[in-house]
Amino acid sequence: MTPVGDGSGFDNLGLSPTTLEAVRRAGYSQPTPVQAGLIPRAIAGVDVLGQARTGTGKTASFVLPILERLTAAPGRDKGVRAIVLVPTRELAVQVRDEFEKLAAGSHLRCVAVYGGKPIKSQIDKLAKHPEVVVGTPGRVLDHMSRGTLMLGTLEIVTLDEADRMLDIGFRPDIEKILRRCPQSRQTLLLSATVPPPVAKLATRYMYEPEILDFSTNEIAVETIEQFYFTVAPTRKFSLLEKLLEREEPRQAIVFCRTKRGTDKIHERLQRRRKVAADDVACIHGDLAQSVRDRVMRQFREGLVRVLVATDVVGRGIDVSGVSHIVNYDIPEFCDDYVHRVGRTGRMGREGVAYTFVTPEEGPQLTRIEMRIDKLLERIEIPGFVALDPSPTAPAVQPAASGEATAPAPTPPKPATPLLGKKRGPKRIRRAL
Ligand code: ADP
Ligand code: MG
Repeated sequence: MTPVGDGSGFDNLGLSPTTLEAVRRAGYSQPTPVQAGLIPRAIAGVDVLGQARTGTGKTASFVLPILERLTAAPGRDKGVRAIVLVPTRELAVQVRDEFEKLAAGSHLRCVAVYGGKPIKSQIDKLAKHPEVVVGTPGRVLDHMSRGTLMLGTLEIVTLDEADRMLDIGFRPDIEKILRRCPQSRQTLLLSATVPPPVAKLATRYMYEPEILDFSTNEIAVETIEQFYFTVAPTRKFSLLEKLLEREEPRQAIVFCRTKRGTDKIHERLQRRRKVAADDVACIHGDLAQSVRDRVMRQFREGLVRVLVATDVVGRGIDVSGVSHIVNYDIPEFCDDYVHRVGRTGRMGREGVAYTFVTPEEGPQLTRIEMRIDKLLERIEIPGFVALDPSPTAPAVQPAASGEATAPAPTPPKPATPLLGKKRGPKRIRRAL
């Protein structure tokens, strides 16, 4: 057998030689803190609640113990042995891919089940008795009710992105699924944040969970620079264009609040970008699954450079090329800010996040700043008129519409970038 782990930081986590080899082939040389903390405990068989910010390698922290536990002992009756519940279809695919990468060398098979895809091919795959299933709660329940997925032989249940699953209303589905899992199972729960609903879920469905908290107070990743623009609703699109032109991002995600808004910005960007209109794409929950899959593939391959997205779909996307996040609409919930921004700066790479804040949205910005315990820096693009001529005029149109009519004259501020490092009192600095 090839010597394993020559100096590999994964050596002491209790992984078998085969798994260590797969980890090495995946190119992981050092475990991330959440991996170093979670893997040995999960292999030991205890229930673990792992809290860590996005981009810290939570997927491998549960995939590796699942692999170890399933290869250590044979399963019973060909039934499913581990299930991973995830909030979105994209994450289901991502987790399945990570599983397949790390399971190389073992005989374990993993199937992803999610809505929007014909159920027939999933039924066929499930009929071949995969050991591991990754799925969205709705589709998992669907398979359970058809009898194409039975949970009686489950050994490990994992809830990935538990906070998000609860946010988007999966609680009843998750509870239904958990109630059908054997009592003797092991439960792993991963979450970027642990608000009370997640804690409640853990109390109710986990057995004496060990809580491993790797979220420092500084929630937003340190390698991400974070700025905000004060901008009138009517000027947001022009600002976006200017920003993309100035920054030439390697890859960017532009977050919008609504599906309609996402479509609109996408169409306008395609129309306006003279060069390479097809390097822009959009993704949201109303698009056919085949379209979403294609867009994600093109984004991952770097063919799409600017992806306009809603929160639900944007969350959890792990594409290492993402250099820029633009919050075209300021997120409604503070946690969404953390998740959006976490799409860049993956694994210590550098990234930058810009948030567009309209004069009315000051309080939302403050809430975000309190949540991440950090002040965002205000920035301007020299010469760009970001506000309407009269800042006291009532805000006109609803956000993100009809801004072709806004050739506002002079900016109310000097047209130099305000990259001031000075930390004045918040309320004063917040001159929106
Ligand atoms: P999270 O679920 O915490 O948001 P992911 O599991 O999606 O994070 O991991 C983020 C990225 O880091 C992925 O591209 C993954 O392949 C990579 N990664 C995970 N663990 C390691 C490691 N130990 N060394 C290097 N890269 C890693
Ligand atoms: Mg994750």
